[in-house]
Amino acid sequence: MKLTNTTHKVRVYNLPHDSYCRALRACACRRAPAQRIAGRRPAGGRLCCASLTLQPGVQVEVNAAVLAVPEINRAVRAGALRASE
Ligand SMILES: [Zn+2]
Repeated sequence: MKLTNTTHKVRVYNLPHDSYCRALRACACRRAPAQRIAGRRPAGGRLCCASLTLQPGVQVEVNAAVLAVPEINRAVRAGALRASE
């Protein structure tokens, strides 16, 4: 499906693991590079959820799983985003 940002502002949405990855049935999160802290062994990086950036008036191809994200679902219903096939 496609999403169009119908506003005049750039919109950035997080795609949280609990809603997006679950709907996707796959994990789209990425692990941030491990940070070196002096005196400590480098630990595994923090897990960051994926995000979606929508430029004003631009249509992007997205997985329908984004509609499982409450913030995106609300934006579609409010008309700030247009969902189409
Ligand atoms: Zn995930």
